[in-house]
Amino acid sequence: MKNIYNYEVKEKFLQNQKSRKSYETVFRKTYRFEFDKGKDLYNFSFEELETVLYGFKHNSFSTIETYKGHISSYLDWCCNQNFITKNDLNQIQRGNFSKYLSNRIKYFTEIELKNWQKNQPHNIDVMVSQLLFIGVETLELQNLRPKDFDEEKKQLQLIKYPKSGSIKVLNIDEKTVGIIKKTIEESEYGLTDFLLQEKINYIGKVKPLKKNFIRDSGAINYAYILGMMKGGISKKERFLVARKFPEIAPSYLIELLTLDNIRYTYNEEKLSTDIPYQLELESLAIDATAQIEVTETEKEQVVKARIGQSTFKKALLNIEKKCRLCDVSDERFLVASHIKPWSQSNHQERLDVNNGLLLCPNHDALFDKGYVSFDELGKIIISNSLNEEERLLLGISKTTEIALNEKQKEYMEWHYREYFEKNKNSN
Ligand SMILES: [Zn+2]
Repeated sequence: MKNIYNYEVKEKFLQNQKSRKSYETVFRKTYRFEFDKGKDLYNFSFEELETVLYGFKHNSFSTIETYKGHISSYLDWCCNQNFITKNDLNQIQRGNFSKYLSNRIKYFTEIELKNWQKNQPHNIDVMVSQLLFIGVETLELQNLRPKDFDEEKKQLQLIKYPKSGSIKVLNIDEKTVGIIKKTIEESEYGLTDFLLQEKINYIGKVKPLKKNFIRDSGAINYAYILGMMKGGISKKERFLVARKFPEIAPSYLIELLTLDNIRYTYNEEKLSTDIPYQLELESLAIDATAQIEVTETEKEQVVKARIGQSTFKKALLNIEKKCRLCDVSDERFLVASHIKPWSQSNHQERLDVNNGLLLCPNHDALFDKGYVSFDELGKIIISNSLNEEERLLLGISKTTEIALNEKQKEYMEWHYREYFEKNKNSN
């Protein structure tokens, strides 16, 4: 096998790997490093292993984590074979991973946000960015009315779901008070009932900044203020940030609130990123060959994902704002799931918004694999193969119900009949 360094040894290791292909891809990527140094990965020092992680030049956290995990399993195996006595990669903590990402994001500090705001011609953009930065949620922004703003008390009343009747009171600082006041006074957007509802297009399109970027920057800023720089990241501090920024999914928050990200944003520590340009080009070339190896099913998944991300998901997001089975509302994690599976649908059904359910990745997996379905009243039907404990862990119970319109019911009937019932035995 070409392009795998020290192939005889690695082949022995690969023989026992279930996801062999994925390991091979990683070994093809480490080849050039091993070739350069004239030795196998297991003879690499920690610093050399880090060079490999930097050298992947990837900007996806999970990819880097997977690559590292694969190399680490290999090193564990090498320990078992007595080639080495310890696996150096074990010293990398999960939270210190982001430094290996390329094109890593430099989040905004409060001063940088202020400078950006200074150059905005419309106060509405200034206000939206400011409120996102301090943790106001999208739905709360959309429902904001001038009368919810109390200049004297320096408070905002935030309403997420008008029908629920629950109100959150947020204390705001002098600067935010000034910004809101100015926005209300600005005649163009002046005294309409809702400050933002008609200007909904602005949300998420604060140019050139993205909504999530501002929110993430705000979370990092808050963590920084809480003193995470000095004391490290404790559970309690993460909890405080999570409470202030409820729209950020907990798992993503863990990735976001790393000392690396905070240091990088606040320039406390320069990071080494001097990987030769040539390596990057090589890496791109290898990526291109790896992509050719996708199977037909994978291809369908890719297409499905692409459609899910674009038209279909957007259409669904206009109707639903969070997972139908739980409170996950971060758009980045929501999946536009087809009730009647994409592969079974005709072109019209694939794009019919009634054939969609917005779900978080966990619940999408359950639904997509036919472990749960819904009856004509929208009551959940759960596969017998899921025991009580699993149901609890997955956040589903017999009493779960969702609202379905007539068209959705038709698709759901199909899902139940063709998918749930048929998978019953294999479930
Ligand atoms: Zn969910």
